[in-house]
Amino acid sequence: MKINFKDKKALIRVDFNVPLDKEYNITDDTRIREALPTIKHILEQGGAAILMSHLGRPLEKLNSDGSINRQKFTLQHLVKHLRKKLRTKIHFADDCIGKVAVRKAAALKPGEVLLLENTRFYHEEEGGDEGFSKKLAALGDVYVNDAFGTAHRAHASTTVVARFFDKNSKTFGFLMEREIENATRAMKNPEKPVTCVTGGSKVSDKIMLLEKFLGYADNILIGGAMAYTFFLAKKGAVGNSLVEADKLKTAKEFLKKAKDTGVKVLLPRDSVCGDKFAADASVQVCASNQIPDGWMGLDIGPAAAKSFASVIRKSKTVIWNGPMGVFEMPAFANGTKVVAKACASATKKGAFTMVGGGDSVAAVNQLKLAKKVSFVSTGGGAMLEFLEGKELPGIKAITGKHSQ
Ligand code: AMP
Repeated sequence: MKINFKDKKALIRVDFNVPLDKEYNITDDTRIREALPTIKHILEQGGAAILMSHLGRPLEKLNSDGSINRQKFTLQHLVKHLRKKLRTKIHFADDCIGKVAVRKAAALKPGEVLLLENTRFYHEEEGGDEGFSKKLAALGDVYVNDAFGTAHRAHASTTVVARFFDKNSKTFGFLMEREIENATRAMKNPEKPVTCVTGGSKVSDKIMLLEKFLGYADNILIGGAMAYTFFLAKKGAVGNSLVEADKLKTAKEFLKKAKDTGVKVLLPRDSVCGDKFAADASVQVCASNQIPDGWMGLDIGPAAAKSFASVIRKSKTVIWNGPMGVFEMPAFANGTKVVAKACASATKKGAFTMVGGGDSVAAVNQLKLAKKVSFVSTGGGAMLEFLEGKELPGIKAITGKHSQ
């Protein structure tokens, strides 16, 4: 971080959108832990930290009388945990703008932390309202964005607020720096062979990414439900597999473009099929283009897993987004597991491997392989958009230029 924070009040956008149980205990504090290095650095330099974040979607889940469910969505739930993690005074303002926030921010001493109330209590947050952003900005001397997961949103606290700080008074936090560095490394002159592994449920979500990969990947591996849209486009029989019937043309065109550009696209030659979408389904392995009626492909098959793994292990750069099957059900988790392990062994042999997107990240965590790949991104949608080459408003607001 380029700013010297001594005697500065740093307004920091963090992503504290953590899962809570019914008693409002934090069930997974990963997002808080990820933000700690930035906060600690600022406090150690003699600065004070004013933390702002959203938590859940309070305006979509109002009480029956139309009021905000403050009890559920307050950031107050995080105060005790933050105190334990930062071992300093954590003040809390029950509003993110207004008199209380202004007074508490003004009284904040170096080494102390002020946590502001949920920014999404205001429509103005997601609306990117200027006036609201200006009020947030007035609380700090400098602005730090460390919330990569929301960098693709032009919200007040992630983007518009930055307008009120000059270029020397705004910066990325360490987490955001790492995300940008790694995604840039994966996209700019990556060491070849480059393999992109995509999966998950929908072609429509990933087609832009696939098209982008055509520009520089050597291999594109397609697993998950997405694969069946491609098989159907090639006139295969896919039984009851999840497909997007309106994306057949897109899928066909993509395969043609890949052929024309010489990029090798691998579809799973076999699939683990179930007779229903359930953990206790009857299971059989079928050729992915010969799935009988009444059966659906729910994971890549053993032969496909083997060939996907072999390509991954020979790669020098691997970018993986989306699970190979319904990994949440043990009967259909093998393909994702084999791919995750292949990424780990490629990493061991010196490859750069990056996993992004909510579900593939959950899979590597579940398999305890997160430390065995080069980088696990915290940003689902944000990482996808970055890799697609889109300009992320949260990045542009700091650098003033395109993210890549
Ligand atoms: P996405 O959010 O698009 O990355 O998709 C992730 C979800 O896709 C996970 O919840 C998987 O269970 C699901 N998924 C992966 N493969 C299949 C499949 N063959 N059929 C149905 N759902 C799948």
